[in-house]
Amino acid sequence: MPTVMELYKLLPKTNCKKCGESTCMAFAVALLSRKKKVSECTPIIEEMFKKDREKLESLLLPSSGAGETGMIVHTELCTGCSNCVVACPVDVANDPRGAGTGGAPTNDKVIFRVVDGKVVASNIKECRRFGKNRVLCYACIDPCPTGAIEFV
Ligand code: SF4
Ligand code: SF4
Ligand code: SF4
Repeated sequence: MPTVMELYKLLPKTNCKKCGESTCMAFAVALLSRKKKVSECTPIIEEMFKKDREKLESLLLPSSGAGETGMIVHTELCTGCSNCVVACPVDVANDPRGAGTGGAPTNDKVIFRVVDGKVVASNIKECRRFGKNRVLCYACIDPCPTGAIEFV
């Protein structure tokens, strides 16, 4: 995954606000969290920025193995500990026993479940990183002891 600074360096850096963000740095942050698309920076369409635009778009392409939403679960690293299952707010909200039980919800609305000792992700479009009101959620990534969950 690129860094904010890598993305920022490829922007026009004029802080013109045409993208709806107050600065090019804020736009770089929004690009990284997939809240904005490169095309929303209208000055970068100019010929003089062609190489930078192409580089930006290539940096933001999903990596090999990423699903439509950008989540990669490295199952070879997963120990089946269930930390992500009980930490994901979507899973907690869909736990029929009520939030905060500390158990692993199992209905078909959850994102994570552990099957045969490995995590399986489904309903990925419910993830809070996607959709209109997306937020840069780290709730599944932070408690994973092996770094098995990645967003690209
Ligand atoms: S439109 Fe482009 S150049 Fe202008 S502030 Fe946004 S990112 Fe920067
Ligand atoms: S990023 Fe947040 S909402 Fe998305 S799967 Fe992970 S914990 Fe759940
Ligand atoms: S927190 Fe990590 S190791 Fe534990 S079940 Fe989830 S992906 Fe696997």
